[in-house]
Amino acid sequence: MEEDFAARHAVIENRIQAACGRAGRDRGEVTLVGVSKTFPPEIVSEAIRDGVTVLGENRVQEALAKAPLCPSAEWHLIGPLQRNKVRHALSLFTTIHAVDALDTLDALARVQRESGARPDVLLEVNVAEEASKHGFTAVSVREAVRAALEEGEVRLVGLMTIPPWTPDPEASRPHFRALRELRDALEREFSISLPQLSMGMSGDFEVAIEEGATFVRVGSALFGRRNAAAWKPERSADSDSYIYQP
Ligand SMILES: *Cc1c(COP(=O)(O)O)cnc(C)c1O
Repeated sequence: MEEDFAARHAVIENRIQAACGRAGRDRGEVTLVGVSKTFPPEIVSEAIRDGVTVLGENRVQEALAKAPLCPSAEWHLIGPLQRNKVRHALSLFTTIHAVDALDTLDALARVQRESGARPDVLLEVNVAEEASKHGFTAVSVREAVRAALEEGEVRLVGLMTIPPWTPDPEASRPHFRALRELRDALEREFSISLPQLSMGMSGDFEVAIEEGATFVRVGSALFGRRNAAAWKPERSADSDSYIYQP
């Protein structure tokens, strides 16, 4: 098991380095976020011992139950953040990748003022404008940036996207490029710095790195296939509402 993980991790690391090389980028500009959703704490612990320093989870309760059972690591929320989960989320996550609504920004600002937590925040943009996807549009994201700047509380650091699913990594390239260009435009329009681009998953992280990703969110290529026998917290505040989604 441990060797399997180490072998897969080494392959991913080589591919990240090669993509950085092709793009003329420094390896240090790209953070591998190991997406550990559905995997039990024993496997996640192996990953941490093997040098994965940042874990990505898409459910707040799952991560809150899992993190105390693993060695110390940095935990990022990569899935949607509901307003009623903000307080729990801020007790663990240092980066929130996918804020997709103005009222979530409001809730973040309010809870941050009370708790003193100040996570890095990225706005999710639905660059392909797919009806089924979360995220701001290239137009509505401007309203979100303006709201965050006026509020002054949320530490906005960049943008995140999930392009339409495709077996062809090259098909993701225009969407990754669009996110980078949108980021560049927002930096100019608002005179701000948005250094982080969270884009690229198991199927397309190399293309994402070539297009400027600073966070790649890699799950199955690192941990193996997720299955229906996924790990769930035995008890949690809202275990009834825990829904497995691949
Ligand atoms: C699950 C998930 C990933 C990882 O997907 P893989 O294809 O397994 O690498 C990345 N980002 C988000 C938001 C996810 O929910």
